Amino acid sequence: MNKKGVSEEELLAELSFFSDTDTNFKKVFSSMCTIPHPIAVVAQQQFSLSNIGDPGLFQGTCRMEMEIIRMSAFMLKHPDSVSAFGHMTSGGTESNIEAVFHMKNRFLSFSSFSSSHESKTQKIQNSSKLNDSKLNLILPKTAHFSFEKIANLLDIELKKADIDSDFRVISESVESLIDKNTIGLIGIAGNTEFGECDPIESLSEIALKYNLPLHIDAAFGGFVYPFLEIENESKDESKNEIANKFAFDLPGVTSVSIDPHKMGLSVIPAGVLVFRDESFLNLSLDKIKVQTPYLTSKYQSTLTGTRSGSSVAATYAVMKHLGFDGYKKNVAYCMDLVNHFKKELSKIGLKPYISPKINIIVVSIENKNKKIADCADYAEIEKIRSQLLEKYGWNVSATKTIPALRFVLMPHVTKEDITRMISDLKELIDY
Ligand code: PLP
Repeated sequence: MNKKGVSEEELLAELSFFSDTDTNFKKVFSSMCTIPHPIAVVAQQQFSLSNIGDPGLFQGTCRMEMEIIRMSAFMLKHPDSVSAFGHMTSGGTESNIEAVFHMKNRFLSFSSFSSSHESKTQKIQNSSKLNDSKLNLILPKTAHFSFEKIANLLDIELKKADIDSDFRVISESVESLIDKNTIGLIGIAGNTEFGECDPIESLSEIALKYNLPLHIDAAFGGFVYPFLEIENESKDESKNEIANKFAFDLPGVTSVSIDPHKMGLSVIPAGVLVFRDESFLNLSLDKIKVQTPYLTSKYQSTLTGTRSGSSVAATYAVMKHLGFDGYKKNVAYCMDLVNHFKKELSKIGLKPYISPKINIIVVSIENKNKKIADCADYAEIEKIRSQLLEKYGWNVSATKTIPALRFVLMPHVTKEDITRMISDLKELIDY
């Protein structure tokens, strides 16, 4: 650290230098975050000193947090949004950690509690499942990498269920992986690579059958699917089927995470974790609940301590300001981009690898060099991806499940960006 403080003027110049090397999202197709709504930025600044980890000092911010949980529960079709329970987190990773942490605690409490658990294990032993010693979590192969961290942190095994040709988890595969050490199931509404939604209705049935908690990772899709559904309601029944049910309207769903800092147009960091009700946590909360003698509250039961009140204010502001109709408009804008993207892509002889359900498009590139009808491999895709950046400045990502380019069409993207980027892509693959 420098001994003497740097002048404000010098420092502002320095900050500009650093911010100039950050993106302004102009040529970004790779991020699931976007430019926050201006009202969110205003609220963020107004509440910059607020800490909801110390609720007695920031009662106004805490009231906004409760209202965010209520609005989120409503959006996620909770039958009684007042009984929903939850809080804001720093994003999808923290929400997933906490959801699985509670699953593990619940399982361990159950083991000491016998009767209802016995009937559950009995059911599984009767169907002669394996008796592994490590606790496990069942999740789709397409799950976000945050679950790898969770497995390590919580010392649990990840059992990855197979996916179908649309990259949605196969329910039969999920059920076949359940054994007496399974702590819970994960479903995804809007998977990171393809934006697909798992068959949550079937997962809910399985969860109820085996008395297992089911957490839905809707970090990205949470602010898309509820609005897409309404958009398509009377037009295309088959699309509705996918988007229709993924949250608390399905009785087996115990928790859902959504990220306002992605399609919710809030500031970073902003995640929301909602549980169906507090009773689900009764067997677990004590493990995380600690006395907080030197704070204004008696207890704290969130994973982190000090939490950003400015993120709460920003999220509250944008959710209230946009309302259901505003988010519907936002999703409709992005889906219009999807249609434009598909049209432009077809002009250069390409099409999405699967029909995009939401604003994520994956494109595999035919390998023209080899003059055979196969597709580019991972190295070739990586070459195209890096050339798009180095030659033209476009930030695009690549998928891991298949060798393909991945484009996230966020609200900061325009149709003109898409037209220009696809024409640059054409130059690269026509060599
Ligand atoms: N879950 C899903 C489905 C995601 O797509 C992501 C991030 O892209 C996460 C969780 C993790 O979110 P975060 O980076 O906000 O922790």
